Amino acid sequence: MNKPADHHPVDAHSVMYITKRPDIVMVEGSGSWLTDQNGKRYLDFLQGWAVNCLGHCNPGVVNALHQQAQKLINPSPAFYNGPMIRLSDLLTANSCFDKVFFANSGAEANEGAIKLARKWGQLHKNGAYEIITFDHSFHGRTLATMSASGKPGWDTMFAPQVPGFPKANLNDIESVKKCITDKTVAIMLEPVQGEGGVIPCDDSFMRELRQLTQENNLLLIVDEVQAGFGRTGTLFAYQHFGIEPDIMTLGKGIGGGVPLAALLCTDEVACFVPGDQGGTYNGNALMTAVGISVIDQLLAPGFLQSVITKGELLQSELLKLSSEFGLKGERGKGLLRALMLGKDIGGKLVDLARDLEPEGLLINSPRPDLLRFMPALTVSNDEIRQMCAILRMLLKKVV
Ligand SMILES: *Cc1c(COP(=O)(O)O)cnc(C)c1O
Repeated sequence: MNKPADHHPVDAHSVMYITKRPDIVMVEGSGSWLTDQNGKRYLDFLQGWAVNCLGHCNPGVVNALHQQAQKLINPSPAFYNGPMIRLSDLLTANSCFDKVFFANSGAEANEGAIKLARKWGQLHKNGAYEIITFDHSFHGRTLATMSASGKPGWDTMFAPQVPGFPKANLNDIESVKKCITDKTVAIMLEPVQGEGGVIPCDDSFMRELRQLTQENNLLLIVDEVQAGFGRTGTLFAYQHFGIEPDIMTLGKGIGGGVPLAALLCTDEVACFVPGDQGGTYNGNALMTAVGISVIDQLLAPGFLQSVITKGELLQSELLKLSSEFGLKGERGKGLLRALMLGKDIGGKLVDLARDLEPEGLLINSPRPDLLRFMPALTVSNDEIRQMCAILRMLLKKVV
């Protein structure tokens, strides 16, 4: 595994140290492949953490950026623009929601959802403000969304937390009931916990939550920042469960790689008045034009069905690996899947896969005992098989 002769250590002293980065610089991307400064290629099953839902530099995304950039970038959030209206219409026409507020990141969309629920509590529930969230959930890195998250250690990291986020256990309805008080205004969850290790919410649990929230006049908020936008094989993940939430947040896939996110709600819940919510870049024409291209491609005939079919292929290939190497199975929905390793070898596999020569593989280990896969929704069957073949070779070495 020799490094090419022209390889120099990366000099990046001025880049703030917020994550341990390998000594490479990415310079190009196309579909499921990334290329670094030395010309080495990587098969990318991360896609910027499920962000590039149509792969790197999708032609539709590139074209939307190019066309819109020449016309209008950001007339300010104080004016309507064409792409903002068109994308809002597409989102509401294809979901159970009526109103859309665009944001720039998943965390910002979730902040908006929290504010909206609290406002609704002020108007309709005597100032109730508590939002029940779940252990191992992930909702973002702002103070409120870190407080909403159930990541171990995050309660003390930047203490004090924003109050009002009691934690229940996913797929345990009794634990949710125990958290309900007269201060409760909403329940918020990921339909598939992503960072927590790809843990799908049970069908029955989601339906029980919808019933429980209706009985207690609470809002149901789904955080689909990772699971939404085709990732699980339906346009939105809640559509698997036969329920309709009150509020949904989107991020990652909605922008196909550019910073775009959204907060959606029903008319009954849309209680913001002018001054409550906003932001300099929100709903800018450049990013929403990209969102239109992404959703158009996802809604093209057969596309979402192809995500389901490829998800099944990935699932069956992972199950083969699991039985060959005595691992602990796999789980997930659509093209958001995890392989349970049964041992803390995830980090080692991630490093070995990336450092392979002549071509590397990019995978992720959100917990040391599992690997997570979030390829482009446009990944080919061959690329799925190629990824599993590389993994087989590495597992032979490591297990
Ligand atoms: C990534 C993620 C977020 C945060 O999104 P950012 O764009 O990184 O702020 C929130 N919720 C879920 C479920 C996520 O996966």
